[in-house]
Amino acid sequence: MTTDKNPLHEVIGPHYNAVMLVGPPGVGKGTQGKMLAQIPGIFHISSGDMFRALDTNSKYGQIFQQYARVGKLVPDEITVEIWQHYMDAKVREGVYAPECDLLILDGIPRNITQAKLIEPYIEIFKIIYMVCEDREVMFRRIRGRSLKENRIDDSEELVVRYRWDVYKRETEPLIDHYPQELIRLIDADNIASDVLLQILSAIVPIQKKYFKPPLM
Ligand code: ADP
Repeated sequence: MTTDKNPLHEVIGPHYNAVMLVGPPGVGKGTQGKMLAQIPGIFHISSGDMFRALDTNSKYGQIFQQYARVGKLVPDEITVEIWQHYMDAKVREGVYAPECDLLILDGIPRNITQAKLIEPYIEIFKIIYMVCEDREVMFRRIRGRSLKENRIDDSEELVVRYRWDVYKRETEPLIDHYPQELIRLIDADNIASDVLLQILSAIVPIQKKYFKPPLM
């Protein structure tokens, strides 16, 4: 993995220039991701949405259901394989242009194994680390979301708490895996527009420095 010291034109191969969103379930990544996705020159991918879009009767759709239902992570190799196909498809469809668009990775990598598996394909410019000290605020948000979005993994209290443990055990160590100068701490216990402002202050300078302005 390289840092933003490398000018983009020197990057050879299928590199996706990315910012990662990291934070526990319920911290508001989904809400922020949806807003960021509306901005020209940004391509946002949520691994959860990617999985939920799979046909539930397909082999991978079934595998996803089997793990997500109990709050477990889908096995790493399968996750990264699905992600690669998804990214290839988005480039082919013309909805994501790696040379113009900053990729926002939301939910992937989810642990150090995944980080190592996707490392050859991505250049990480920043890691947006969303934190909210109050765990109960997040559990409340998830309970609200389960009613609105009909998510199989949000409705059971035990599954939600298990996902929290998985996050602590598997995902949080990612923060120490990357160079600390890449990490931008975001206080997520705030109104959505304030959180967005904090995130934009971290990523707009990257867009300006490294990407051609998108055609409008
Ligand atoms: P949350 O962040 O609230 O847990 P997501 O929508 O990101 O919700 O993920 C929902 C479920 O999808 C996870 O519990 C897991 O089963 C699966 N999933 C999403 N991303 C990954 C990933 N990178 N690796 C493995 N499983 C994943």
